Amino acid sequence: MAGTSATTPRLSKSRVQSGRQCHKRLWLELHRRDAAQWSEAAQAVLDAGTQFGELARELLGGGVLIEADHLHVDDALAETAAALALPRRQAPRLFEAAFSHRGVRVRVDALERGRRGDTLVEVKSTASVKDEHLWDCAIQTWVARGAGRAIAKVVLAHVDTAFVYQTPGDYRGLLHRVDITAEVEARLPEIPRLVAELKRVAAGPMPAIATGAHCAQPYDCPFFEHCRAAEPPGPEYPVDLLPHAVGVIARLLAAGYTDLRKVPTSALPPGRLQRIARVTRTGRAHVSPKLPRLLAAIAYPRYYLDFETVSFVVPRWPGTRPFQPVPFQFSCHVEQRPGELAHADFLDLSGASPLRAFAECLLATLGTHGPVLVWNRGFEAAPLRDLAALFPDLADALLGVAERLLDLLPLYRAHYYHRDMRGSWSIKRVLPTVAPELAYDELAIGDGNAAQAGYLEAIDAATPPQRRAALHAELSAYCRRDTEAMLRLMTPPAPRRAPRAAGASPPA
Ligand code: SF4
Repeated sequence: MAGTSATTPRLSKSRVQSGRQCHKRLWLELHRRDAAQWSEAAQAVLDAGTQFGELARELLGGGVLIEADHLHVDDALAETAAALALPRRQAPRLFEAAFSHRGVRVRVDALERGRRGDTLVEVKSTASVKDEHLWDCAIQTWVARGAGRAIAKVVLAHVDTAFVYQTPGDYRGLLHRVDITAEVEARLPEIPRLVAELKRVAAGPMPAIATGAHCAQPYDCPFFEHCRAAEPPGPEYPVDLLPHAVGVIARLLAAGYTDLRKVPTSALPPGRLQRIARVTRTGRAHVSPKLPRLLAAIAYPRYYLDFETVSFVVPRWPGTRPFQPVPFQFSCHVEQRPGELAHADFLDLSGASPLRAFAECLLATLGTHGPVLVWNRGFEAAPLRDLAALFPDLADALLGVAERLLDLLPLYRAHYYHRDMRGSWSIKRVLPTVAPELAYDELAIGDGNAAQAGYLEAIDAATPPQRRAALHAELSAYCRRDTEAMLRLMTPPAPRRAPRAAGASPPA
């Protein structure tokens, strides 16, 4: 059984946010921090936020940085008090100012001192203001005012996605300041009650809360594996695997259905959801006879193409924007005539902008005619348009390629489903149901996140040459597998029967 703490732990801004998401998350952060597991993707987001925050200090105009870290809170409070005791002209802006009020401690990204009060600036490496940011700022404002500061204005400084990096080292314009004072003021009356409630949670026993949709909203909870391990296993095919069906799932759960195989067809809207439920229940894959006909009708020469991209909050190469998917690698299988195959690829691990060489190599590979087969067209179309805007001399050819894109995903979505796809038509879900021998789990790099991480490691100047060569081979194998997969999926399976499943029945 979970124990309780002898003294009430102090709250911080991030702990209050955790408590708003889930009382159990707050409790675990305070009492079982060892049980947290941060994914590589979550860590990458945190690292990007840290990098953006450091750059933002320059973009905001410089100031006095309170150096003491989160492990030395009393030092940070003393440093802040000393800086604020200076005349305003000597310390007009403080970074990481520390305040404490009624057991809640916060660090303010930037505190701008004005004649008629302070402006509290929160920096976020996101593309817009989100509801959780407003609560974040409300907590900070409540604490800073409680500690004696006259906060007159609250600003959220986020990433301006229209910013285009032009001159090396010049990031002016990357920050977009939004006045959120009114939204924060509207939330302030809630804060004392929230803080009192979370203090009770912190000092009490571990809350009994089951996992659910709240575990990923607004942030992925690092205790998910810990919580799931303590819960009984759910059905093999839960109703929440139904795609794009939030309302339907909520209705089914409210009616007591958790296992998709037990849901009667009549409880679902006609069309794709009914098909998914039927295939899941019977175990028999759905393959429309139209699918092989449509695939066979595609003309030659055929180009099977896949891009890998990377994106940065702070653009790395001139001509690119924040969050822009920048292509650094492609694989292309060329089928001139049925069965006559050649392969070409591109991968630049120099760390310099890969864009020009990527575009030229791509155009040389694809020629001027023949369908360019992709899986999920938008993933290739957007980089092609960006490249066309960046290189006017190649624009016509690149836009011509974009017009030749032929998306296999909608064909499969309309005409194929296997229950092991679990509601997803991503190529990594479809392929194992058609060609298990081509699975991705045998690869050292097996998904897009790992490919991005591998690329970033490879272009890091500190990476030894041997490791870079290994990453080159792993990235090449991964991207090639995507185009091999498309080639294989040109021959869809005949309908087949999977192991028997339980029939639909009312919820227990
Ligand atoms: S995994 Fe879900 S239930 Fe568990 S602490 Fe996190 S948010 Fe709460």
